[in-house]
Amino acid sequence: MTKPMFVIVGASLTGAKAAEELRSNGFDGRVMLVGAEPERPYERPPLTKDYLRGESGRAKAYVHPDGFYEEQEIELVTGVTVTAIDPGASRVTLHDGRTLGYDRLLIATGAEPRRLHVPGADLDGVCYLRTLADCDLLRARLDAGGRVVVVGGGWIGSEFAASARQRGLEVTVIDPQPLPNERIFGPGVAAFYRDVHRQHGIELLLGEGVDGFEGDRAVARVRTASGRRIECDFAVVGIGVVPRTGLASDAGLEVSNGIVVDAKLQTAAPGIFAAGDVAHAWHPFYGQRIRVEHWANALNQGPAAARAMLGQPVGYDRIPYFYSDQYDVGMEYSGYAPQWDEVIFRGDRESGEFIAFWLRGGRVAAGMNVNVWDVNPQIEALIRAQQPAEAAALADPRVTLDSLAGELAAGS
Ligand code: NAP
Repeated sequence: MTKPMFVIVGASLTGAKAAEELRSNGFDGRVMLVGAEPERPYERPPLTKDYLRGESGRAKAYVHPDGFYEEQEIELVTGVTVTAIDPGASRVTLHDGRTLGYDRLLIATGAEPRRLHVPGADLDGVCYLRTLADCDLLRARLDAGGRVVVVGGGWIGSEFAASARQRGLEVTVIDPQPLPNERIFGPGVAAFYRDVHRQHGIELLLGEGVDGFEGDRAVARVRTASGRRIECDFAVVGIGVVPRTGLASDAGLEVSNGIVVDAKLQTAAPGIFAAGDVAHAWHPFYGQRIRVEHWANALNQGPAAARAMLGQPVGYDRIPYFYSDQYDVGMEYSGYAPQWDEVIFRGDRESGEFIAFWLRGGRVAAGMNVNVWDVNPQIEALIRAQQPAEAAALADPRVTLDSLAGELAAGS
């Protein structure tokens, strides 16, 4: 009897953790993990932090130690692109024309950087930061020092800027919003981060666009929308990512802000699942589809999809979580708050140690702890309670989060 074949398209964190989960759940069929990059699966957080700064080696970035895939009999195929999926025939086509049959297919193709289409964008030295290879190039540029212009003050922009500054470069960040990440955070938290960057010597040009890059073969200046010219040795563009959905849409799968999947992370096509940055998944707790582009989602959704592929009951309902480290400011954010009514602060922003709560309809939709640790379970409990929370109690450090979470849970 031939063994069942599970194919995972995308050999990054989501795909690698899914493959691991299949084995740890006793699946003894074939597991093929196909990745377009030449690398074995790696995690992205070090690529804007310690690995980028040269403080840690490649081994720390890899999802699994050397030899893991061979030991687990996971067929890791790197440098290979899947070019088509035929859901009717349950087959995928590889770039060299070979086809492979599957019993279950997981699409974990992730996302790719949005490109900035302005004059000069193809000059040498206009860089993006998504892959380990991108990071290696930027690591070498940080070694060389000089001046860098960062376009976009989102997560790539702010973490890269902090690392570059820590390596002693002169850094200018250009962002179209009045405050970086203001749409996610609101003005209070966004202003805190603006000040942190300024205190570390970053030049922030806010409410400003980029009209073009100038230079002979390599970028030498960035031209802003207001007509300023900023000299630089290189530039880094971090203006968001786009889910890689082409394979799915070409195969006739439903795509709408990502590949549409249910709470089992399954598409409407039999045997085909999607997880990670690319998946727009039904979230039972929120009662809507959400797509999450952060590390923790890749870490947890891949394994959940693997269990669903094995026929286990799955209803992926984790509260989204991410973290960021910039200079000596560490933070964790839990929740999902595309809209909110007010932001409540517990602790003093001036001190750099505080918790912010985003309230929607009086309920805690998200919480972020900045240089305050071990409060994650309580913040999640406050969110899960879905009960009106008293702003004064949230703000009062004498009221413990444990007691608040307990009270709200009792009311739910
Ligand atoms: P991002 O966090 O979505 O931020 C993009 C930023 O670029 C936004 O501030 C955006 O402003 C700005 N922008 C958009 N168009 C622009 C333009 N033409 N010129 C200048 N700025 C522009 O995306 P990212 O920083 O590129 O990060 C890529 C992905 O990696 C994201 O999914 C992110 O979540 C993930 N990531 C996560 C972490 C973490 O969790 N710690 C760290 C690094 C990366 P508007 O909002 O006004 O469009």
